[in-house]
Amino acid sequence: MPSFALVLVSSVVAVLPALQARAQSAPPIPDQERIRTCYDRGDGVLTGRALGMDTAPSRRTGWTLPRGAANVVTLENNGPSDQRLDIVFVGDGYTEAELPLFRAQVDAQVQALFQTEPFKTYRSHINIHRVDVISNESGVDHDPTLGVLRDTALDMGFWCMGASDIERSLCVDSFKARSYSALAPGDEHVVALANSSKNGGAAFFGSLISCVSADAFNPHSTLHHELGHSLFTLEDEYSTGGPATYTGPEFGRRNISIHDELEQLKLETKWWYLMGQSLAGFDGPTGAYEGARYSRFGIFRPSPDSLMRSLNRPHNLVGLEQGIRALHTFGDPFPLIDDATQPFLGEFVGHDHEFFVTPLHPSTHELTIWWQLGLDVIPGQTGTTLRLCELQLQPGEYTLVVKLRDDTPWIFDEDFRQQNLFANWAWRITIETPPADRTADGRIDFGDVLDFLADFADQSPRADMAEPKGQFDAADVLAFLERFTAPCG
Ligand SMILES: [Zn+2]
Repeated sequence: MPSFALVLVSSVVAVLPALQARAQSAPPIPDQERIRTCYDRGDGVLTGRALGMDTAPSRRTGWTLPRGAANVVTLENNGPSDQRLDIVFVGDGYTEAELPLFRAQVDAQVQALFQTEPFKTYRSHINIHRVDVISNESGVDHDPTLGVLRDTALDMGFWCMGASDIERSLCVDSFKARSYSALAPGDEHVVALANSSKNGGAAFFGSLISCVSADAFNPHSTLHHELGHSLFTLEDEYSTGGPATYTGPEFGRRNISIHDELEQLKLETKWWYLMGQSLAGFDGPTGAYEGARYSRFGIFRPSPDSLMRSLNRPHNLVGLEQGIRALHTFGDPFPLIDDATQPFLGEFVGHDHEFFVTPLHPSTHELTIWWQLGLDVIPGQTGTTLRLCELQLQPGEYTLVVKLRDDTPWIFDEDFRQQNLFANWAWRITIETPPADRTADGRIDFGDVLDFLADFADQSPRADMAEPKGQFDAADVLAFLERFTAPCG
């Protein structure tokens, strides 16, 4: 048992990166960061390009956050920030008088977000905050035309603040946006809304910011597309904006490939395990469709027309899987466990203790829960609590484990499920003989009654179970019967 327990415990520990929750901080802003700028041409069809640039010019100017900078409101609180994905909305080009407009636009964005998968199902994983950033002037730079400048808090502007050759690339000073978002309890991801009705958008892969024009065509679907980049790390799947034929090397990102379906299956690469699969509500069937990431030929996407290709579309299965990954892996060591009997691997001695685990359930279904003693599943125990004495264990040492798994049918890769949608917690237990098990044989049975009666007849101290001590009377019999009939009592 000891070596077996050790093996089990070490295997449990191996999947737990850390035991204590930790405060999360924003990622460092790179000197040059990768950007995707995508916008609706006006007919629901996306176009755009990849850029690389310094998004934080204010970092070199000695700019600091003004005192009493901005009011912060938590719009969606689903749990402690160190165990949730915190998304912070900041706005630019809103004067104090326009803050009600900003609030209404954020509310509409949040409402639309939680009507869209996978945010709807995994809503309980997300907190949303709003920072009421006030600008001196209304509107953003280079709107409607290049050269129109305004005094605003976050320096948002088209032509990527004047630094790109794409009119619709709508960028924000990431250092300023991140300085304001840091006022919120958590800020793993930032959404910068521009007070504008001009089409535009961008996603920053390094500083994890999505920029959206608040009052333009399809602002909600545009945000979901940008989050597909900066939160789900997806590439664009549309085929305009670049050379007709892509001739470069394979990409690291999961939703585009230079390999067609047969090659992917042969090489077991990219989304080969999803080929032919479909899910209601998502784009499919999954295959390898030519045309993606700004080129029409030489590069493939997973589905005919996903959100990464056109607005007002759902993700395909690769986008969905990346989304589920993002909503589960934001630095939380136990993403599926909100609380449990403490501590992890704590030692418990006795025969009667209740253990609990508080799961982080998705909003549309519950997690599968089971309990184990060592490697053995305990039959019938699928709840969030376990009463030790009900197991009637023989005295000895055990390792008790609770395991949780999200059995959503949206995941086809069981290794992925095991790595991202699984959690466990464990305790070391020493079972002592319960008082009613007088014969210490692990069973509370008639043998224990006979043992008590024999001791009672002999007036043995072992039968003197009730006060006052020294007397052998009905109180002792009642005390024994109580423990005999309700050993868990
Ligand atoms: Zn895009």
